[in-house]
Amino acid sequence: MRISKWFFVILIVSLLKPQISYGVSELSQKFLDFAKKSEVFDWMVGVRRKIHENPELGYQEFETSKFIREELDKLGISYKHPVAVTGVIGFIGSGEPPFVALRADMDALSMQEMVEWEHKSKVAGKMHACGHDGHVTMLLGAAKILKTHSHLLKGTVVLVFQPAEEGGGGAKQVVDSGLLENIKAIFALHVYPGQPLGQVYSKSGAFLAGSGFFEAVITGKGGHAAIPQHSIDPILAASHVVVSLQHIVSRIADPLDSQVVTVAKFHGGGAFNVIPDSVTIGGTFRAFSKESFMQLRDRIEEVIVGQASVHRCNASVVFSTKDKPFFPATINDEGLHKFFQDVAGDVLGVDNVKEMPPLMGSEDFSFYQEIMPGYFSFIGMDDGKNGTPASLHSPFFKLNEDVLPYGAALHATLAATYLHQSQLTEHHDEL
Ligand SMILES: [Zn+2]
Ligand SMILES: [Zn+2]
Repeated sequence: MRISKWFFVILIVSLLKPQISYGVSELSQKFLDFAKKSEVFDWMVGVRRKIHENPELGYQEFETSKFIREELDKLGISYKHPVAVTGVIGFIGSGEPPFVALRADMDALSMQEMVEWEHKSKVAGKMHACGHDGHVTMLLGAAKILKTHSHLLKGTVVLVFQPAEEGGGGAKQVVDSGLLENIKAIFALHVYPGQPLGQVYSKSGAFLAGSGFFEAVITGKGGHAAIPQHSIDPILAASHVVVSLQHIVSRIADPLDSQVVTVAKFHGGGAFNVIPDSVTIGGTFRAFSKESFMQLRDRIEEVIVGQASVHRCNASVVFSTKDKPFFPATINDEGLHKFFQDVAGDVLGVDNVKEMPPLMGSEDFSFYQEIMPGYFSFIGMDDGKNGTPASLHSPFFKLNEDVLPYGAALHATLAATYLHQSQLTEHHDEL
């Protein structure tokens, strides 16, 4: 009796396993087919073009947020708003644990679009040049897929439409809202020009650098450029500062630990014959570990103040503020890496799932990863039809809308599969 009972249990467990993986493969195909249906694709293209035509900067995404909520209303998806000023958090599924989150950023950049096409930005000096219009669309596409198949969900998918990724740290404010507690994992996709359409790129562990900004005012004493002995020249002092800052990475940093210090801003003077009172410089610094990052921060301040004083100038240095917080490094959860590769392989084909080396770019997705396991990846969108594609943040950046079904289906399959697997392995807390 005892043996036959255990035999029965083992038999059930072994029968369940192939069924689960078969179910996931079937799900991924079902979701991708759904996303590629002409009416779904056309809807996504329309959504993306509307957002592209009306770009809004960080924490000002009021119309974008309203448009997202209208689409969620049409889909019958409940949400919380406002979160972090303009953010929207939607919920699909049972409303019960487990919870898994998908994230899209909503903000545009302060730059003029140079691409001439029918749906060019209607707002002078603002442009979706980082593909966040596509990210919102892919997440709404995933929402449509998941809502249509919500009877298959073994828990709740949380849709995070966040503001202000471009330097504003919108993710931090979403985290600080406390609405993401008890979520087991979070995923995000970023479009990637120059890589083949429908291929994904990521790695386990440290993927993108932590980043911060600095700005310094170096003050001397202005005067006539022909009588320098009566002035204290801040331009000369600032020039030495810029050169000395380069020595931090070459002489202080461990050569095996990638770091960057770049001075990207240098403002001072306005006439050929006047030594100005002050010069303002600014830039960014990057590192993968907190220790290296804080060492850079301390040395930058030390070098600026020290070099300025060598040249009899004063210097004041400010670092990232509440409006522009330090971004931690984006560290992809090791446990989610295999999961992501398996699911992405199912959706896109195993040959389309690629490893890539870390980048010194940064992402505020890292704030989510500080409170839960998170996984960030890039999705390629180059179909070879448009010559050399412009990079992210280029005024000539073009998003290939054919990427939208792949991103939507991948998002949806990641979430649904995660819930499936999670429900089978653990007991979950209430949100
Ligand atoms: Zn960007
Ligand atoms: Zn971006």
